[in-house]
Amino acid sequence: MSGQQLSESIEDYLEALWISEEEGASLAKISWIARHLDVSSPSVVEMLKKLEKQGLVVYEPRDGVRLTETGKKKAEQIIRSHRLAELLLTDILKMKLDMKTACGLEHHLSEDVADAVCTYLNHPRLCPHGNKIPKGNCCP
Ligand SMILES: [Zn+2]
Ligand SMILES: [Zn+2]
Repeated sequence: MSGQQLSESIEDYLEALWISEEEGASLAKISWIARHLDVSSPSVVEMLKKLEKQGLVVYEPRDGVRLTETGKKKAEQIIRSHRLAELLLTDILKMKLDMKTACGLEHHLSEDVADAVCTYLNHPRLCPHGNKIPKGNCCP
């Protein structure tokens, strides 16, 4: 692991922004983020300002927000951990998919553990929902 440790709520924002982009939005709308994370719009704006100071997002007050290259790299790692955590539950532990557990795990799965899960499952490309899992260092 490199770089500073991000708080779980920052990670949730980065993850939301990744998903917004994955769904085809070039800029994420504040209202969309608020709905997605179930928080108020003013707290979204406040958090985005914080993320912008850290160089993770670019915030265009009227239009929305997008990830910077640094933000994208972090978000990719979180998304990867989340989707591999889902597969860890369903394909390795044979448990029912429980989003609360998957969302909790994503913040604690180190890159090494994510790579180990990925390798164990022969580098899966899709999570149980059919969403793409970003490649890691272990992937061919
Ligand atoms: Zn999923
Ligand atoms: Zn892999």
